[in-house]
Amino acid sequence: MAVVEGLMQDYELSLQHVLWRIERLHQKKEVVTKRDEGIHRTTYGEMVPRINRLAGALKRLGVKPGDRVATLAWNNNRHLELYYAVPCMGAVLHTLNLRLFPQHLEFIINDAEDKVLFVDQSLLPLLKPLLGKIPTVETIVLMAEGPAPASEGLPQMLDYEKLLAAESESYPWPKLSERMAAAMCYTSGTTGNPKGVVYSHRSQFIHTMGVLQGDNLALQESDSLLPVVPMFHANSWGLPYAAGMAGSKVVFGGRFSADPKSIVELAEQEEVTFLAGVPTVWIALGAYLQESGKRLPRVRTVVCGGSAVPQSLMETMDSLGLRILHAWGMTETSPLGSVARVPAGTKPEDELRLRLTQGRVAPGVEIRISDPATGEELPWDGVAFGEIQVRGPWIARGYHNGYDPGKLTEDGWFRTGDVAKITPDGYILIVDRTKDVIKSGGEWISSVELENAVMAHPKIMEAAVIGLPHSKWDERPVVYAVAKPEFKDKVTQEEIVEFLKDKVAKWWLPDEVRFIDEVPKTSVGKFDKKVLRASAVPIKEGAAPAARK
Ligand code: ADP
Repeated sequence: MAVVEGLMQDYELSLQHVLWRIERLHQKKEVVTKRDEGIHRTTYGEMVPRINRLAGALKRLGVKPGDRVATLAWNNNRHLELYYAVPCMGAVLHTLNLRLFPQHLEFIINDAEDKVLFVDQSLLPLLKPLLGKIPTVETIVLMAEGPAPASEGLPQMLDYEKLLAAESESYPWPKLSERMAAAMCYTSGTTGNPKGVVYSHRSQFIHTMGVLQGDNLALQESDSLLPVVPMFHANSWGLPYAAGMAGSKVVFGGRFSADPKSIVELAEQEEVTFLAGVPTVWIALGAYLQESGKRLPRVRTVVCGGSAVPQSLMETMDSLGLRILHAWGMTETSPLGSVARVPAGTKPEDELRLRLTQGRVAPGVEIRISDPATGEELPWDGVAFGEIQVRGPWIARGYHNGYDPGKLTEDGWFRTGDVAKITPDGYILIVDRTKDVIKSGGEWISSVELENAVMAHPKIMEAAVIGLPHSKWDERPVVYAVAKPEFKDKVTQEEIVEFLKDKVAKWWLPDEVRFIDEVPKTSVGKFDKKVLRASAVPIKEGAAPAARK
């Protein structure tokens, strides 16, 4: 029998469609940025001619299809213009993580072979140490704010606004193939060297549709979005394009994004309904709201991902009227992997438990857990745990320059390095990262569960747990805890261990609780266990462990 072909159009999925929508449908929607000199306000309608001019400028600078164009920028309107102009003219947007060390930035720029680099004026000091070490960068474009910087020690730079002013308001967008690279983002290197993830137009398009789904993040036209998550962190979780597709108002915090007071002020002024960021941001915001007595009654969703959401955080935010929507993902999954929505018919007393899981895998993505030793697929029984593997149209199949080919299984699934259980109805419970899980006496202790249990203590603000070498047990857990300011020096190791006794198995009780002023954070605000491990003093094995005193 003849194979019957579908008769639908071969429409290439590309970000040009999102550009088309902001131009035709969302002209009046505002894009607001907090800058040093005050609030900058524009609309998609005003931005589109600038995006066209920017594409013209890139072409004039010799940018060809496939060339990498880097950005070293905060969350702001110009960065958003680059989000559209670069991929839509056929080049690849490479967002640089501005919290990386200079040697990492140098490595990344050279690894990606960036041709043009756009830099916010306030980030010039970051660029200085790289000069002379990034030979592929032919042009640097300065995105100035206020008076021009003293040129001393700086390279020849072009001015963003002058470049745009010299171009035409219309641009003949080329026909793109959906398989072409659109953007590039390096993993933040929490567990190793950064590796380049390359998104295609097709993956970005489908991911955008995924983000918008009602049972996913469900961003809507009526929303006012404030993405606290940086535009260099996994494309700001896909939210800028989702906002363009839906027509949501966008509010950017500029270089004030991580400051709770600024977030609250902006959210109040701009009637923000939708926030997104990592848990450490919300821990700080929750504390600020409690202290100041302020509330944000318009906010309907606070997307929280990047690390597990501690129960204490979810409860604090609930008490402040801010509903956290827990999501899991990684740079390699564009990043949306799963979302913790509560299914219809759930009893109120079960809701919190489900909202604290990593939720169910997003439509479009398939998931399985596999035994790290045998590679065998494990059952979804809520007990067995193994490495999460995923596949789907917005999941990476490799890294730029072919690093780490072993991340893909022989049958084409991406190995995430996260260890989880899955319940019979598909709820994912991340136990740990393979590199953070503590191996004690042949058994595993979840550092994540242990730190959540410690953070539930009323005197504790933050806690990170790492495994340190132990001659008998291989590794034993050690807690690094930060007391709430009012309890500084007023909380003891014994109190914490006592508190944990009815919450975790006896052999999970930490050998030591060490009090510190702040948990070191990674470039994207996660607990940096690499730093803790590197500076950790060995466990005092001779002394009786805290747990057994
Ligand atoms: P990096 O791997 O360098 O930290 P990513 O931002 O891509 O950079 O981080 C992805 C990782 O973050 C995941 O593999 C997972 O370990 C962790 N993660 C993300 N979201 C969650 C979550 N909701 N719960 C637990 N861990 C999470």
